[in-house]
Amino acid sequence: MGHGGRRIVLKSPREIELMRAAGGVVAEVLAAIAERIRPGVSTSELDEVATRMIADAGGEALFRGVENPQASFPFPASICSSVNEEVVHGIPDERPLAEGDIVSVDCGVRLKGYCGDSARTFSVGRIAPDVQRLLDVTRETLEIAIREARAGRMWSEVAAAMQRHVEAAGFGVVREFVGHGIGREMHEEPKVPNYVDRNGQDFRLVAGMTLAIEPMVTAGRPRVDFRDPKEGWSVVTVDRSPAAHFEHVVAIGPDGSDVLTLGG
Ligand code: MG
Ligand code: MG
Repeated sequence: MGHGGRRIVLKSPREIELMRAAGGVVAEVLAAIAERIRPGVSTSELDEVATRMIADAGGEALFRGVENPQASFPFPASICSSVNEEVVHGIPDERPLAEGDIVSVDCGVRLKGYCGDSARTFSVGRIAPDVQRLLDVTRETLEIAIREARAGRMWSEVAAAMQRHVEAAGFGVVREFVGHGIGREMHEEPKVPNYVDRNGQDFRLVAGMTLAIEPMVTAGRPRVDFRDPKEGWSVVTVDRSPAAHFEHVVAIGPDGSDVLTLGG
């Protein structure tokens, strides 16, 4: 979904508080969606909840209208909703969710010029134990990254811990999509991979960096593709195994990372 300049923009404490306010709206949306998810509810109903809440907060839905060179139309909704084998960028629709499904909901908001971006994979009713383990491991992978990220470390050290946790569980780390810097723009430098990218640029974590960390984990092989190459949005696992996605925005500090998308 595009990206900013090449430079990593550090944020002042005041800017970090503005990002926390935007992240708080995102957190409230995801909490409201969590309360509504059950068999029979459609993802477009969840999108309507998000649209209304973001407007009421005076914010702007970051994903709506985003263009992507591979897609045949701009993104048409406030949330991405990715069901079962869908990994990211699923478009909300009228199909009712069914018992045993999982749905990854990603929400981005700009408020007073600053962005928040967070995602969670929800279970619909009772889910299979191996699918629950996929959700648990993905959430733990994000928690590990939040715990390990602090000023002075190289990102690759954090990414190695994330990759180890996923692969030790027998799951796959998606390579085609990664986390990102965030601030005034949804996508800023640097790229924040969930694996050790031996050909990519590593970077040192510095106080004032604000990063969206977002592990995308597959129950089977990590290869992904568009469900419909002509549409160019919904990304699915090639082997159609289920996938999970958890995301928070953090501000890097000298002693650790401060999560900006918790709300409350
Ligand atoms: Mg997101
Ligand atoms: Mg993101």
